[in-house]
Amino acid sequence: MKTAEIKQRWLDYFEANGHVVVPSASVISSDPSILFNIAGMVQFIPYLTGREPAPFLRATSVQKCVRTADIEEVGKTTRHGTFFQMNGNFSFGDYFKREAIRYAWGLLTAPTAEGGLGFDPDLLWATVHEDDLETIDLWLEETSVPRERIQLRGNEDNFWHTGQPGPGGYCSEIYFDRGPAYGAEGGPIADEDRYIEIWNLVFMEFELSEVRTKVDFDIAGELPAKNIDTGMGLERVAFLLQGVENMYEIDEVFPVIAEASRLSGREYGSDHHSDVQMRVVADHVRSALMIIGDGVRPGNEGRGYILRRLIRRAVRAMRLLGVTTEVMPSLLPVSMNAMKHSYPELETDFDRISRIAYAEETAFLRTLESGTQLFESAYEKLGSADKTISGDVAFALHDTHGFPIDLTLEMAAEHGVNVDEAGFRTLMAEQRTRAKADAKAKKGGAHADLSAYSALLEGGASEFVGYDDLEADSRIR
Ligand code: ATP
Ligand code: MG
Ligand code: MG
Ligand code: MG
Repeated sequence: MKTAEIKQRWLDYFEANGHVVVPSASVISSDPSILFNIAGMVQFIPYLTGREPAPFLRATSVQKCVRTADIEEVGKTTRHGTFFQMNGNFSFGDYFKREAIRYAWGLLTAPTAEGGLGFDPDLLWATVHEDDLETIDLWLEETSVPRERIQLRGNEDNFWHTGQPGPGGYCSEIYFDRGPAYGAEGGPIADEDRYIEIWNLVFMEFELSEVRTKVDFDIAGELPAKNIDTGMGLERVAFLLQGVENMYEIDEVFPVIAEASRLSGREYGSDHHSDVQMRVVADHVRSALMIIGDGVRPGNEGRGYILRRLIRRAVRAMRLLGVTTEVMPSLLPVSMNAMKHSYPELETDFDRISRIAYAEETAFLRTLESGTQLFESAYEKLGSADKTISGDVAFALHDTHGFPIDLTLEMAAEHGVNVDEAGFRTLMAEQRTRAKADAKAKKGGAHADLSAYSALLEGGASEFVGYDDLEADSRIR
């Protein structure tokens, strides 16, 4: 079943069950505390918190999401993309747990000939919060899941809150068992690679008076109006239904892997390391396409920096596959063609989108060439006991070749060595002090244009230590 068809079946099913179909919001979050929409519920936050009255009691959507916090998982696990689509159904003070479970089960297990998704009910598992005993009974009453396939979890996995006082509640999640070939018995609490999480049902029922950490908070009482927020991973369901191994091999993503394979002459499936790189390429190219499509341009901070980093990582992954020429002009149109059925605006806007992406690659290739040579020669000079690239080298890479530190760190990790980051930061701080003094002396005189990337580490951006700080916002869900 094609991804677009799963999406349509979802919307039809919830519409038939009284939900208003709401289009996806942009990937750019309207909530200023997060950069990108990381879940379907984000556009409904005002209704879910009761800040605004909801214009409908029930809604459904397929939301474009970006979770850069998952970037390190991409290509290595089967199920994490930086871009993905989250199917959601929402109740604003209308139905609650029982119906949420009934709807989810109904859609997942109804035969495909009847508009369902056709999952084998015997392969589905559920998790429930250990204090939410009511929900165990609901699973037993509403579905054919036996008690042995319902597992209990604590706050870490099965409690949702925003990180602030306000609404919160238990979650119940649905997993699909891929079978013994993918890992040991024991259900989702034992192995999340074999048992794939497909759907999270969030029951917003409490008012939290204080939230200290993800797992430590005070429940003040029940909410006057209880809400349902669910999220099903469209790509995860697609890969399971399409009989492929992971979400990068679905119809909307795989064509880019095939193109990366053609360009590099490497056969997909013949070498694990190359396969991971090809999956990274396919994921990142698609994410870049969708993010530019929604109006972000590469830049040195915030969303623009994340976009820049995605493009750079895709280009670097292609180099690791042996392709040193420009790759975006081959890969991006393939991704657009795979996605345009669901998002026709990608095709009509492709001229603009592609110009932005190609220019970014060109700028990056200039800096990469020279910096890689310096890095390699520094690496070769390391003694066998010496496993650290010096702060001086990292600084030279930045200062002369425009290498951001994260790129140096990534290359070092690939070579199995460390980087003296503290030394690098000291040199950076000294340079900033010098630059300030110079600027004062010159009063606005021109200064050397190092490269498109040197600016990355100016000012606050030098504090950039990875992605987690940019999207510590997984707190939303
Ligand atoms: P996981 O534990 O696998 O990281 P999650 O618990 O972080 O997933 P939720 O926040 O519950 O995910 O999001 C709801 C659903 O969205 C998940 O059940 C999953 O199907 C899907 N999903 C979450 N993150 C991703 C991702 N990075 N790529 C693709 N699908 C995702
Ligand atoms: Mg996650
Ligand atoms: Mg999870
Ligand atoms: Mg989850």
